[in-house]
Formats: sequence, structure tokens, C-alpha cells
Amino acid sequence: MNGFAGWHQRRADYDVVVVGARLAGAATAMLLARAGLSVLAVDRARYGTDTLSTHALTRAGVLQLSRWGLLGALRAAGTPRVEKVVYHYGDEPVEIPVRPRGDVDGLYAPRRALLDRLLVDAAVAAGAEIRHRVAVTDLHRDGSRVTGVRLAGGETVRARLVVGADGARSTIAQLVGAAMRYTATASTATIYTFADQLPADAYRNWFRPGVGAGLIPTNAGQANLWIGVPMAELRQAGHRDRAGLFHRALRRVAPRLAAAVAGQVSGPWATFPGRPGFVRQWWGPGWALVGDAAYFKDPISAHGMTDALIGAEELARAVTAIAAGADEPTALAGYARRRERLIRPMIPAIERLSSFAWDLTGLKQAHTEINQAMRAEWEHVLSFDVPAIGSPATGSLDQASASTRSSSLAASPPASVATATARGTSRSSSSAAVTAATPVGVRPGRPAAV
Ligand SMILES: Cc1cc2nc3c(=O)[nH]c(=O)nc-3n(C[C@H](O)[C@H](O)[C@H](O)COP(=O)(O)OP(=O)(O)OC[C@H]3O[C@@H](n4cnc5c(N)ncnc54)[C@H](O)[C@@H]3O)c2cc1C
Repeated sequence: MNGFAGWHQRRADYDVVVVGARLAGAATAMLLARAGLSVLAVDRARYGTDTLSTHALTRAGVLQLSRWGLLGALRAAGTPRVEKVVYHYGDEPVEIPVRPRGDVDGLYAPRRALLDRLLVDAAVAAGAEIRHRVAVTDLHRDGSRVTGVRLAGGETVRARLVVGADGARSTIAQLVGAAMRYTATASTATIYTFADQLPADAYRNWFRPGVGAGLIPTNAGQANLWIGVPMAELRQAGHRDRAGLFHRALRRVAPRLAAAVAGQVSGPWATFPGRPGFVRQWWGPGWALVGDAAYFKDPISAHGMTDALIGAEELARAVTAIAAGADEPTALAGYARRRERLIRPMIPAIERLSSFAWDLTGLKQAHTEINQAMRAEWEHVLSFDVPAIGSPATGSLDQASASTRSSSLAASPPASVATATARGTSRSSSSAAVTAATPVGVRPGRPAAV
């Protein structure tokens, strides 16, 4: 039994140490701090830096940011509102409007330096301590239980729980020996860059056998442009010729866009050589993984950021429940079960997409499967019985989003640490306000609102 007494009796400098302070880590730290837990998050990267990722958030991710009171800040930073998603299956365009629902009035694709910084700032505002340029090199253990981390400078920090939010190459996963529960066989190589003066109203995607490309409107009047090809093609072309490969691939899949951006690409360039997806063991005694550390999927899914935000809330809810007296193994097993229930239906379709072993009919089928899974995901996020951990502790960074919050607590924070928390309206009003489906996968030629 790892109940309330066990949690509080353990000697610790912090309730939770989070390793990695980007989407998954900063969001987890923010939610736990809002629930009144003492949290330290460390990241070996510098504060407010970019990272290897394109920028497309799906609806469930936007909803999470809205519920947490952060969407207004993204808008205020000039992140363009995306009103539709357009797929070009060969020469066949399929246009899908994004229907506004409540505070979620469209899709957004913020630069990571902006989004990650916003989450870090919200975590700090909630009372979390965040240290950048600090790497975790080892764990502290009492017997088989993880009881803290060792930092690069030699300092040991003890915690009641250690969260690995440290990305696909997770140090924490390696140190605890987290088993692989699933490993994909294929992956897409991605090259992306930026261009100015392109339409900012839609996520646009182009597919032809063996190649994909996309345009994602982002901050500062720029569009994030990506191409995806099988890993072997990038290996053959060689990394040095990535601009050449990018332009050749773009001409193949989207010749008009290629002509429009010739000479317009402003850089910087980024290359992701590919990494097959995986699901790791989610938790063990004294530790849990979240975000890419737990579940990495091919970037062609454009879903990792949304998964990181949903995972952060699932884990924060479980940890808050443990701090309030729930049995730790039961709560963390519940976290793992809920995550797997949500991600499992997407995995086969993502694997087919990233294998490039599709024709356009097969591609549409894979998109349809992902769409169905994202509908369930959307419903799941709506169904969060929005706890106090979802609301800023003092006021709202985004008052407009208050209507999408609700009041009840899945698990009350421990009395000793309960803080004043902003409470909004009931979940039923949030459900009514935001009920759209997610963008991908419609029947060809049959636009549907999302
Ligand atoms: C090419 C590409 C394109 C993508 N495009 C999209 C997209 O359009 N939409 C989408 O939703 N997703 C996309 N993704 C996926 C998305 O980027 C990830 O899912 C997301 O970044 C995961 O966030 P995270 O917080 O889990 O991990 P990360 O963003 O990887 O953050 C992990 C952090 O942990 C830190 N860290 C690691 N080890 C240590 C250590 N030992 N000590 C201290 N700190 C440590 C790192 O410095 C890092 O800051 C893309 C990914 C790639 C590769």
C-alpha cells in the first residue's frame, strides 16, 4: 500500500521531480503545482529554446491549452488561427473546415520556443521550481524504489515521485530499464524549414505515393514547410543535400507550392532522420514516464504534442490522487491503462502511414482510422472531470477560456497542500461548447466540419 501516509512519510526535498521541461514536463509540473504539490522540473536545454518539431496542434491539444488558460497568450503572441485543413490526395483536394466551438475557435501551430516557454512560465507562476541547463545523470534509489535524481553537478534531489518527461531518448527510461511494450517497424524522414508570405488560414497536406508534404502556418507571418520520405531515401540522398532533397520532394508532391516557395525559403533547416515509434512501460516504483519518453510516434502523425499535453494531465491526475491517499500502483496503472486505451487505435494506422507502403486509397483509410481515434480522444479530453489542477491557481492567464473549465475534483489535493484554485463552470457547459471532431480522415471529396 502506497497511500497517503506512505507518500508523506517518505523523506523528500520535493513531492515530484520532473525531468524534462518542455510540453510534457512543463505541463505536468504546472498541473501538479496548481494542485499544491511541491515540484522541481529540470531540463538540460536552455529556457525558451526551439526543438526538433513541426508545429501542428490538433483540436484536443488546443482544448487542453484552452482549459489551462493558455490559449489567449498564444493568440496574443500572434499565432495565426487555422480555419481549415486541406488534404491533397494526388490531384484530389479535400477541404475540411474547422468549426469553432467555445473557446476553441480553430487550430494553432505555435513555434515551440513560444509554446514551451509559455508552459514553463505557467508552471513557475503556479509555484513549480524550474531549473534549465541542468541534466539528470542518475537516479537515487532506496532498494528497488526510485527516490530521487542525481544532477550533473553531483547534487542529489530526493522526491516522492520522479517523472521522466525527457523525450524519446529518455535518460529516466534507460536508468529504470523501462521495457518496450511496442516497437514500430517503419519511420518517416522529415526535413522542414520556414517560408514567408504563404496563406495562413489552413494546415495543408499533400500526398503522393512515397512522399508527403505540408504547410503549417505559424508565428511571425511564417509557414512551417515539411516534406516526409522513407528513411532510406534520406540515407541515399545524404544529409548534406537536405535542401536539394526537400525541393525535389516538394516538386514531386506539390509542384505549385514548390514553384511558389522557390527562392522564398528563409530557414533554418531541420532534419529528422527517422525513429520508429514505441510504447514504453509507463511506470514503476517511484517513477513514471510521460510524453515522448513513454510513447513516441512517427511525426507524420503530427500528434506528439497533443499526446504530451493529454498525457501530462492524465499523469498529474493520477499523482494528485496518490498524494491525496490513493494507492500508488493502482493510480499509476490506471494512468497507463487510460493512455493505452486512447493511443492503441491510432498505432496501426500511423505505422502504415510511416511505412509509405500505401496507395492513395490506403492512405485515406489510414487517415479515417486516425480520425476515428482522434474523435474518441477529443471526447476523452472533454470528459475530464476538470479538476482544480486544470485551473491557474491565481486568476486566469486567459479569462476568455473560463467557460470551458469545470468545477469538480477527481481527487482532492491533500488538505495540507490544498491551495486556492480557480473554479469555473460545469463540465456540461464545456461539453456543449466544444464538441467538434478532429481534422484528418474524411471520405474523399466529402468535406466535413471539424
Ligand atoms: C520532425 C518532427 C516533427 C514533429 N511534428 C509534430 C507536429 O507537427 N505536431 C505534433 O503534435 N507533434 C510533432 N512532433 C512530435 C513532438 O515534437 C513531440 O511529441 C513532443 O516534442 C514531445 O514533447 P516532450 O515534452 O515529451 O519531449 P521533448 O520535447 O523531447 O522534451 C524533452 C526535454 O527533456 C530534456 N532532457 C532530456 N534528457 C534530459 C536529462 N537527462 N536531464 C535533463 N533534461 C533532459 C530535453 O532537453 C528536452 O527539453 C514532431 C516530432 C518530430 C521529430
